[in-house]
Amino acid sequence: MEYNHADTNALMFITNRPDIVFTEGHGMWLTDSTGKRYLDYLQGWAVNCLGHAPACISDALAVQSKKLLNPSPAFFNAPSIALANLLTANSCFDRVFFASSGAEANEGAIKLARKYGRKFPHADGANRFEIITFDHSFHGRTLATMSASGKPGWDTMYAPQVAGFPKAELNDIASVERLINNHTVAVMLEPVQGEGGVIPATREFMQALRALTRERGILLIVDEVQSGMGRTGTLFAYQLSHIEPDIMTLGKGIGGGVPLAALLCREEIACFEPGEQGGTYNGNPLMTAVGVAVIETLLAPDFLPTVRERGEWLRQGLLALSERHGLQGERGEGLLRALQLGKDIGPQIVEAARKLEPVGLLLNSPRPDLLRFMPALNVSHAEIDQMLAMLSDVLRMLGH
Ligand SMILES: *Cc1c(COP(=O)(O)O)cnc(C)c1O
Repeated sequence: MEYNHADTNALMFITNRPDIVFTEGHGMWLTDSTGKRYLDYLQGWAVNCLGHAPACISDALAVQSKKLLNPSPAFFNAPSIALANLLTANSCFDRVFFASSGAEANEGAIKLARKYGRKFPHADGANRFEIITFDHSFHGRTLATMSASGKPGWDTMYAPQVAGFPKAELNDIASVERLINNHTVAVMLEPVQGEGGVIPATREFMQALRALTRERGILLIVDEVQSGMGRTGTLFAYQLSHIEPDIMTLGKGIGGGVPLAALLCREEIACFEPGEQGGTYNGNPLMTAVGVAVIETLLAPDFLPTVRERGEWLRQGLLALSERHGLQGERGEGLLRALQLGKDIGPQIVEAARKLEPVGLLLNSPRPDLLRFMPALNVSHAEIDQMLAMLSDVLRMLGH
């Protein structure tokens, strides 16, 4: 079926989109309304951790949609209990609150930290509410999570900001220490900054941050909306540093493509009282049934070792490509990686790759001098090699 561009005008304009309408997706591949196929290295922004429309998700949706959609968050339901238990059994956390988006989970983490700060004030009685976050971080698009984010320009876009999010520099422990005062309740970070350009916090920094926050009685919050659910080769990225945070948020991969997110914490931090937190769709059985199918797949014995092996395959391939085309190398963890271009040619590459014929390639350039790769976690060697060959063609076509 062909779509007329005018048909799209009914959708509110929020960003420039290419003139393509996608109609189907399977695994690493998308098909548009003209029948053209695309190798997809966006996967809904690291969302489809098992690729497009995997059988385990369609089956979970089909089965659960015939049983129970939403009894309301005021009642228990079986899939949310199962998913909460799977998450706590496989992490350092004891309590789970489900949400529908990463921003909503982070908003919950911010509220939980502020509540905790009020409940356990400093010895001097000072109210604790400040959460130290980081330059170039991304935590979502609600007012509080935009204020928490360190994206340039976001401090004035919808001014006034929500107060109380001083910014430190990633991998600079002294910059965190300088911001701690008697109002500080938490430090919040992405173990790998995603939107900021795939910048991993170093193991040493994560360990120093855990030691510092413990010593000063401050909570450590990890935003694993992008880095969690196997993306970095371990179930959660904090495990790479062998530390135990106090609060974690999940999104994206946990739903494998459907709206599901989670806020997790240790038992003694779970201090919400009735009426303080909630939401109509939170923990609904349709989405949490999908979450159960996703995490059970990730927990199969060979799954995460294979993610690490494919991450290494992609890393080696990107390094070879970088050398061949005189680029600046690559970075990342597991299957969240970036190619450093050394010049602002990212948007050009993204467009040329999409327009390749007969088969297109979907890439993302979170910064003009960088390409980000977020394949399905079950991507094959052949699909990595094909992407690298297509990218190499595009670079040559553009004269690099
Ligand atoms: C995508 C993302 C978010 C926001 O998630 P939404 O589901 O879009 O609200 C928050 N934090 C990080 C690290 C993200 O990558």
